[in-house]
Amino acid sequence: MISSLEGRKLKDDIIRFCKERGADMVGFAPAERWDEFGEVPPDFRPKALFPQTRTVIVMGMSMPLPVVETTPSALHKELYDITNRQLDDLALELTRYLNRMGHASFPFTRDTYTSMRALRENNLAAFGHVPAAKYAGLGTIGMNQCILTPEFGPRVRFVSVFTDAEIPADPMQPKELCIKCGLCASLCPKKAIKPRDDRVIGDYDKTACLEMHEELVKQRCSPCGICTKVCPIGKDRLLYKSKGIRKKYMKERETLAGNPEAPEYKTWQHVRKYGIPHKLKEHPGEKE
Ligand code: SF4
Ligand code: SF4
Repeated sequence: MISSLEGRKLKDDIIRFCKERGADMVGFAPAERWDEFGEVPPDFRPKALFPQTRTVIVMGMSMPLPVVETTPSALHKELYDITNRQLDDLALELTRYLNRMGHASFPFTRDTYTSMRALRENNLAAFGHVPAAKYAGLGTIGMNQCILTPEFGPRVRFVSVFTDAEIPADPMQPKELCIKCGLCASLCPKKAIKPRDDRVIGDYDKTACLEMHEELVKQRCSPCGICTKVCPIGKDRLLYKSKGIRKKYMKERETLAGNPEAPEYKTWQHVRKYGIPHKLKEHPGEKE
């Protein structure tokens, strides 16, 4: 057992450690929150995976909005892959750091699947970073099934470390961040997100989303991420002076179908043209 003073000092040390290594956000969830909320099946909870777990440390790295806006593109794919790698490195480094201090820890890497075939057979992760980020107070789950954060909306990726150290927990977000604008659902090229009247989180057709992912993997420019691009939530929109862009997102597909050189989309189209083996279809996601 560590005292509450030691716990607070350890928390500060961990936050410093993670931020010095590129984390934009760090949150702390007590393992009991998975049981309290009962949303995650028992076998997928931290204590089932690593019985010594007292705290789950969740780290987030942001995805810069102007790159996300070019999706699908080689540039967006690179950003996604680099961010995942950095998060995995950070989780492993933090685990070793905590172990050296005598706190048994266990990293859960970002994307834990080996092939598209594995996803087709069972499109479920052994551990979900989305509920972990919610229980660590970093955001709330939006209609698009992603964590929305006040800082970056859904344009942030997460990784988790389980530890036996008892570290003061962060409070959860006090209110839903999703405003149910429905943009993610209406602009999803596969119509994989269905809004619901009775709750914020939409129904999600995993198979349809996976189909999109498979098409983009063939073109070497996965993932899709349109539902993270268009979400209006996040202070990153202020940084990039990107408020009030809804109309531009809504008209994009139709405009480019008529004129792939439309000047208002020139930058995004330029990035999309290069670095992939063949020309992207004008309507990514639709069947030929
Ligand atoms: S990633 Fe693309 S296909 Fe999947 S839900 Fe989001 S917008 Fe739809
Ligand atoms: S795009 Fe709108 S409905 Fe979808 S997650 Fe963001 S705020 Fe919610």
